[in-house]
Amino acid sequence: MENQMRLIIELQGIDGQIRELQAEIDREPDRLKELRDDMEAKQELLHETVGELKAIKAESKDLELSIEDLRSRLKESNARLTKVKTEREAKALHKEIADTDAMIKEREARVVELKESIEGLAQKEKDTTGAVGQDKKEVGKEKKRLDKERKHYDKLFSQLAKQREKLASKLDPELRTRYDFLLTRRDGVAVATVKEGVCLQCYMNIPPQMFIMLQRAMKVETCPNCGRLIYWIGHE
Ligand SMILES: [Zn+2]
Repeated sequence: MENQMRLIIELQGIDGQIRELQAEIDREPDRLKELRDDMEAKQELLHETVGELKAIKAESKDLELSIEDLRSRLKESNARLTKVKTEREAKALHKEIADTDAMIKEREARVVELKESIEGLAQKEKDTTGAVGQDKKEVGKEKKRLDKERKHYDKLFSQLAKQREKLASKLDPELRTRYDFLLTRRDGVAVATVKEGVCLQCYMNIPPQMFIMLQRAMKVETCPNCGRLIYWIGHE
């Protein structure tokens, strides 16, 4: 029986390693996902910037065309000014000229404003494009690293699985079933150490009689509280 408990302790050691390895493997894709999410957010920003830039450029072009129209209208009005006959006509024409002039100035000011926005957005587009490119590289690198690491983990995994099988095959079948059951039901920890009469997994006291027995011999005993297979720390 003593031998069986030793086997179980050893088996738990290997299962602990397998568990840690699994946690590490599970964590891996999260890093890639983070990088990808980051990249996608920047791509979205780039998309928005390009759209905004296009709209502003179109507005600016429309304004420039309308300014050209207004200028030719101004020219015509000025030409007509030389041919007016009455004071009233002249007054009306002067007003029209002044209004058109004001409209041109207003639109020109808006074009200047838009030009600044276009410059800002073009810079943003350039910067974001660069950042997206950088992110793409990072994602590619991370994928490669992940593949390499995955291969390494797979190798480790199969080594541990072999070791595990070798040990488990030496266990009494009934004990093995109990161990495997506990492993899945007790968060990957089927075995607990007992120190000063306390189970170090659930922190409950072991009955004194059982504790004495545990100290005397390395028998397979069960914690009355958490059900794990227990052994005295002095037998480690
Ligand atoms: Zn316990």
